[in-house]
Amino acid sequence: MAKKPTTAEKRRMAASAARRRQISGTLEEWRASAFDNALRQFDAAARRMKLSDNQIAMIKLPRRITEAMLPIRMDDGNIRLFRAYRVQHNIARGPAKGGIRFHQDVNVDEVKALAFWMTYKCAVVGIPMGGAKGGVVVDPRTLSLGERERLSRRYIAEMIDLFGPDRDVPAPDVNTGPQVMTWMMDTYSMHKHDYIPGVITGKPIELGGSEGRKTATSLGVAFCVERAAEQVGLELKGATAAVQGFGNVGSFAALFLHQRGVRVTGICDVDGAFHDPEGIDVRAALDHTAKHGSLKGFKGGKSLKDGSKVLELPVDILVPAALENVITADNADRIKARIVAEGANGPTTPEADEILAQKGVFVVPDILCNAGGVTVSYLEWVQNRMGYYWTEERVNQDLKRIMDKAFDEVAATAKRFRCTMRIAAFIVGIKRVTEASEMRGLYA
Ligand code: NAD
Repeated sequence: MAKKPTTAEKRRMAASAARRRQISGTLEEWRASAFDNALRQFDAAARRMKLSDNQIAMIKLPRRITEAMLPIRMDDGNIRLFRAYRVQHNIARGPAKGGIRFHQDVNVDEVKALAFWMTYKCAVVGIPMGGAKGGVVVDPRTLSLGERERLSRRYIAEMIDLFGPDRDVPAPDVNTGPQVMTWMMDTYSMHKHDYIPGVITGKPIELGGSEGRKTATSLGVAFCVERAAEQVGLELKGATAAVQGFGNVGSFAALFLHQRGVRVTGICDVDGAFHDPEGIDVRAALDHTAKHGSLKGFKGGKSLKDGSKVLELPVDILVPAALENVITADNADRIKARIVAEGANGPTTPEADEILAQKGVFVVPDILCNAGGVTVSYLEWVQNRMGYYWTEERVNQDLKRIMDKAFDEVAATAKRFRCTMRIAAFIVGIKRVTEASEMRGLYA
């Protein structure tokens, strides 16, 4: 049985419920606390590892925070300034790696948290890169195509010394995609008078993007679910699953689970939620979103009024693949799944984490579960540097090898330290970053 929430937890629950109600509005409250949450996760692992103060000093906080004001000439001739950030959290293990987000609610605290998670995500899956993240405070829906291009190019031009294939390699994030990556790569290449595709990942295939990148995060989630099912003794064939979010990660995660014999009984996105105990036709849902842009109007199942109820369906596997902070002290007790596979970044609050652990739910934490995306980004960078490109089959084979190894290492660490998979993932990641940092020593 879960313990009753304290007053402080109730306050947090109320705040998180308020946040969930205003999902399309600002998420400032979460973003302000995102870095605190990240540091709490770090501290829980560091305590168990008995890290020294010097070790902590070297790896806990971001090493470089850059803020710039980008002047952009708008289509009407006026010049507007856009606030932009790049946070490089740690580069002990290799060049910094992390996406660039265009969103009106971007703030430095959020970017710091996301950069922090990138450091440990890369370390958990053992790819030789550090952690970074970038953001521009802008609602891109308010920009024309030309304004978006000028903003993307100016971002790189303004901070050009930060970037480089051996320095810091950005990628897409919320509201940025292959086109933005192309403009950014072109700007960098023009400045350097060279063609340098390895400065950025998430490019279109025609310009050095990797086969398999589009589905990499979801395939990684599916590989983690296979391993988690073995851990809890669940037969995937005939098991049931619910997926929150039907975008890039959620839709393909649902498809990959379906392909493994799992009955996906609940799906939702921002426009609709559907439940069918007999199993939703996932391909029909994918076709519907391809045609209509969202699940709105989908006919394959009983429509649920409250999309957040998808999280509470009686299923074996739950994949949150939409937003941060959706599993909270408020609803964690009502989660019925035996496995929670975190496709999204930060879907579970620290309080909810404790409740799930008490209930014996097997949580595959985000820094492991959704690391398939950065793993194939790394493979894209490798291919760019060789100038030789692999088939999707080859990329997926490498992805599986890397994800399975990482899962097994985290599971073994969880056993050894008698801790959750989340703390274990941080222990694995922190150990690798600490070792690299100590081997390199302190310059000057
Ligand atoms: P996306 O924009 O393609 O999809 C997000 C989905 O969530 C959409 O279907 C949207 O409708 C849905 N959604 C939004 N609000 C919702 C709500 N209130 N209830 C239910 N659904 C809601 O984004 P994505 O790339 O699939 O990313 C999803 C999550 O996965 C994010 O947390 C992201 O940081 C994380 N992630 C993505 C990748 C990647 O490779 N795309 C890699 C690692 C982590």
